Amino acid sequence: MKTYTGGCHCGAVRFEADTDIGQVIECNCSHCSQKGFLLHFVPAGQFRLLKGEQNLTEYRFNTKKIAHLICSTCGVESFARGQNRDGTPTVMINVRCVDGVDLQALSIKHINGKDF
Ligand SMILES: [Zn+2]
Repeated sequence: MKTYTGGCHCGAVRFEADTDIGQVIECNCSHCSQKGFLLHFVPAGQFRLLKGEQNLTEYRFNTKKIAHLICSTCGVESFARGQNRDGTPTVMINVRCVDGVDLQALSIKHINGKDF
């Protein structure tokens, strides 16, 4: 595993995560498609928010299970907090906000979220 760093556009929110970003998820639900997310999921224990907790605005919709966390300064959602199907706390990282990732080199798994 590698330690990746990332954050929002203005730099108020910064995080790091221990993982391997090889495949990312692109979901066609109304929220993901508007924001253009490329997502990578990690167990919450592999994610560390370095700064910006107080600068985050939370947005929940539909089942309200996922806390979408938006930087209140620049408006970028670099990650969200939720749970796995088995209840494990999970962080969804917006790979577009991770430093030094070649987005063109990633394999994309398409998820049909709009029909769930
Ligand atoms: Zn920001």
